[in-house]
Amino acid sequence: MKSEPARESDERKGLEEAHRHSIQFLDSIAETPPKPSCHYEDCYAAFSEPLPDGPSAIPDAITELARKGEPGLMGMQAPTFFRWVIGGCHPAGIAADWLTSAWSQNTGNPLATPSAAAVETVVAEWLLELLDLPRESSIGFVTGATLANFVCLAASRHQVLAEAEWDVESNGLYGAPLIQIFMGAEAHTSINCALRYLGIGSETARIIPTDDQGRMDARFLAEALQESAEGPKIVISQAGQINTGAFDPFDEIACLKERFPFWLHVDGAFGLWARASDKHSSLAKGAERADSWATDGHKWLQTPYDCGYAIVKNEEAHRKAMAIGASYLPEADAGVRDPAQYVPELSRRARGFASWAIIKTLGRQGIAELIERHCRLARLFADLLASETGIEIINTVVLNQVIVRFGEPSLSDETKDELTEKTIEAIVADEVCYLGGSIWKGRQVMRISIVSWRTQESDIRRSSESIIRCWRSIQKGV
Ligand SMILES: *Cc1c(COP(=O)(O)O)cnc(C)c1O
Repeated sequence: MKSEPARESDERKGLEEAHRHSIQFLDSIAETPPKPSCHYEDCYAAFSEPLPDGPSAIPDAITELARKGEPGLMGMQAPTFFRWVIGGCHPAGIAADWLTSAWSQNTGNPLATPSAAAVETVVAEWLLELLDLPRESSIGFVTGATLANFVCLAASRHQVLAEAEWDVESNGLYGAPLIQIFMGAEAHTSINCALRYLGIGSETARIIPTDDQGRMDARFLAEALQESAEGPKIVISQAGQINTGAFDPFDEIACLKERFPFWLHVDGAFGLWARASDKHSSLAKGAERADSWATDGHKWLQTPYDCGYAIVKNEEAHRKAMAIGASYLPEADAGVRDPAQYVPELSRRARGFASWAIIKTLGRQGIAELIERHCRLARLFADLLASETGIEIINTVVLNQVIVRFGEPSLSDETKDELTEKTIEAIVADEVCYLGGSIWKGRQVMRISIVSWRTQESDIRRSSESIIRCWRSIQKGV
């Protein structure tokens, strides 16, 4: 049956309005200050109204959404947005994401949505090649590295307990052999979440001391393993510390597996992508010897939100930990990858399309160029800032992360904390770039993350000029 012409044009106009607003927004992203022009309260006031009783025309609703929403948007994909490790959302990914929404494929099953399932299979093959990880690994397409860590650690929990002859999927953890967890002192907070979700608890891990860059010290790990009781063990390492960008010594850690068998997991939300560049892959050398890897699409690969990849070498452990089945769901043919077997959700977005479009657009070389450019720009940023007296670079800039502290060397730590906070405020108010603070080894720092595909050398130069200008004005006020 044909729909009425009025409805048809209403639908079409709604889509066209969304398209027009998207293009307008993206066209101005480089010129607009990256931070929102209003606060949450104003946004709430703008959206708040009694529950609509009757219908609105689609174009009207979309226009109103754009008008009310835009003032409160953060320019996360802006070229001078440095506050968090957040990718720049590549246009190929946005365009593919529009299609993904229009196609609306529930990616739970290869028979129901063959294209969505097949594209994931291909992207998984590409990712293993790009990141140079064991080609037999399976990949679950999840919302981000938080869930990827959870999925990988669920697979690890399955395997280490299966080896101790315990079926955790059937029996849970009551009465199970104790799993001993070892992780670095500077692990990402999402690891704690994963351990909580898995019933292991966030406070049960043995914390391994780290060096001044946040790298796990393999000698301390060896000692801890030596002292530990027999039984299931999981070691959680990291590629790309969220403040310093540092990498754990994977080869040294992996060597310990021979003496003390354990499952080795790598949280490589952004840092694992160093492996996509010949120039920087040595940073994550030995990471291929792990058993599982969590990484993000929506950070360095520039996919739209949300997209993460849970990569597990032992496909069976991955599947056993996550598998889902129901009588009404068609069963995939033998040998056909079933996307729902590797993630916690049944119904979900077809995340493979946007990943495919970006990898297709950039290619291996384009991705390597992106990683190398960001690392080079981080180095340049650090050099430009360090040339000014009273600005100190705290980390060894190996990747895309720079942490900075403000204050003459003779000042106390407390005064430097205060100056750093004040300078950050002034920089944000200057509206050239957007960044924020973090606490590193107990002290206030300013953190810079370079992850947007839009960021170029000129953006780093104008940002460092703004930072130095703000620092000078703070100093004058001291
Ligand atoms: C960002 C990040 C995470 C969490 O990733 P999400 O995509 O935000 O879920 C985990 N670990 C590290 C090291 C990260 O940088």
